[in-house]
Amino acid sequence: MSNRIEIDAELVRRYVFELAEFGRVGESGVTRLVYSPEWVAATNQYAAWCRESGLEVERDAVGNVWGKLRGSGDGKSIASGSHIDSQAPGGRYDGALGALAGLIAVRALKEQFGQPKRTLEAVAFCEEESSRFPSANYWGSRAITGRVAVTDPDNTIAFSGETMTDAMQAIGLDPARIPEASRDDIGDFIELHIEQGPILEQSDLPVAIVDAITGIRHYSVRLKGTQNHAGGFPMDIRQDPMAGFAEIAAGVINTAHRMGRPAVTTVGRAVVKPNYPAIIPGSVEFSIDARHPRAEKRRELYAAHEALMREVATRRGLEIEWEIQIDHEPSPSDAAIVSMLQRVAKQQGVDTMVMASGAGHDSQQMAAIANVAMIFVRSKDGRSHTPDEFSSIEDIVEGIRVLAAGLHALAY
Ligand SMILES: [Zn+2]
Repeated sequence: MSNRIEIDAELVRRYVFELAEFGRVGESGVTRLVYSPEWVAATNQYAAWCRESGLEVERDAVGNVWGKLRGSGDGKSIASGSHIDSQAPGGRYDGALGALAGLIAVRALKEQFGQPKRTLEAVAFCEEESSRFPSANYWGSRAITGRVAVTDPDNTIAFSGETMTDAMQAIGLDPARIPEASRDDIGDFIELHIEQGPILEQSDLPVAIVDAITGIRHYSVRLKGTQNHAGGFPMDIRQDPMAGFAEIAAGVINTAHRMGRPAVTTVGRAVVKPNYPAIIPGSVEFSIDARHPRAEKRRELYAAHEALMREVATRRGLEIEWEIQIDHEPSPSDAAIVSMLQRVAKQQGVDTMVMASGAGHDSQQMAAIANVAMIFVRSKDGRSHTPDEFSSIEDIVEGIRVLAAGLHALAY
């Protein structure tokens, strides 16, 4: 296939800006929490655009919206989409762009190539951000993979106190039917998303193919020493947890820095007790967030962090204990889809690079039931989860062109 796929830039612009009206905050912000009135209106609009594009619309038991273009053959479906909920407030592009990209790509393929062999589906996932229910994350894609338990809706509590059951029933969804949302007939899933980082901008490229979603580990660490007078105790006989913390914090950050991209380690939280100027602290509690997308490097990173923590504590006579609070394996993309997307991007005249995602995405859930890959579109200044996030229509069109070409290669 060497034909250039035409993506209607004006349609892209209209869909992006019209969808952003549902839950609009200020000039460019969007607060669209799952199952809110704005969310209902946005999903209705998405369904209407699917219908208008000649796709069959289905809404599943958790409120994911599907637009289907039936294939002439059997074979499993090929799906593309992302989440339609937002941060509070987020911007116009995170999630919403991927839901629209799936729809626009399938629409363009239908117009330019007719019926596919394999069924193509665009999808707007109901929830990914945990912005209404802190423990709900990936609610839509998890339901599709059969990983929402029937007891979850009662145990999933919103920041404002209501349960997921209340929120679903309020808009006419029956939580008892959640298992019906699960799918076993999706073979491939490609998600387009904004990058949410500065790498494409630094590389002066519009689009990336994502070969893995990073693995994440959160440590919660407690260093205990002996609280004493800041003047009375000589340096050489102190058990000072602040000294241990300073060494460990600098050490773990430097380990990731020296390992180089895409390793990242962040110490984002520290609680010093008692936190007074003239007191050698009794304890320091702190967090370590460490991420790497490759399994082996990830093990290396974590092992280095743990070895340093033990060594510093022992040498300084401190007690140390840590808990691993979050531990997600990396989610690699399907290698064949990644190389296919690189190939079709080149055929379409779109310059790309390959990178890992440092953030989590619905794709890592979909990987449980389908071959997955992602496409990133350049974010201005790398910004997201803010009303200031921005991607140009030109870059978005290039991203959707690669997506459409990838879907074409799989479906026709
Ligand atoms: Zn997102």
